[in-house]
Amino acid sequence: MINIVLFGKPGAGKGTQAEFLKEKYNLTHLSTGDIFRYNIKNNTELGQLAKSYMDQGDLVPDAVTIQMLQSEVDQNPDSAGFLFDGFPRTIAQAEALDAFLTTKGQSITATVALEANDEILVQRLLERGKTSGRPDDQDEEKIRNRYQEYNEKTAPLMDFYKAQGKFHAVDGIGAIAEITERLSAVIDSL
Ligand code: AMP
Repeated sequence: MINIVLFGKPGAGKGTQAEFLKEKYNLTHLSTGDIFRYNIKNNTELGQLAKSYMDQGDLVPDAVTIQMLQSEVDQNPDSAGFLFDGFPRTIAQAEALDAFLTTKGQSITATVALEANDEILVQRLLERGKTSGRPDDQDEEKIRNRYQEYNEKTAPLMDFYKAQGKFHAVDGIGAIAEITERLSAVIDSL
């Protein structure tokens, strides 16, 4: 069983790459952003709670996010492994994930980061916002706030996973298929 954390800044291409990797390695793809958006669309209690944070580009509180993620993992007991996309985003989430997987006799196999320059990514997100309909992609101030959240709360996870010897990074700029190859080379080497 392999459990991979796909890591990277907003717009780095995590969702795009997850679509290929989940097929190739038969993994259950869990994107916390997608799950929140699904809940917002269906106007659930969780969606109502998450919306105010997401619309501003702020992170949803840890307690809510961790509980949601655990419930999604529990709903897939026969999974051959998970591809975590957009989770964990804080040290508290990473610690909770480790503790949770340990109770199941499992662990994170590796974290693979897609690296890209901020200015390229901001332009990419603004471009995506024209068609994605996502309020958090359409306003440069909100996008910048997402990067600030990333720098303050998510970037420290690189050291967290490096300390565990589990951090790998690939260049996230290039053709989609090329980047899938780079990620696959890391996963195949695990
Ligand atoms: P994403 O689709 O991954 O860019 O996530 C969109 C938004 O959902 C983020 O800006 C946060 O508001 C929220 N979100 C997604 N994943 C998490 C997480 N692991 N922790 C907190 N908030 C999250």
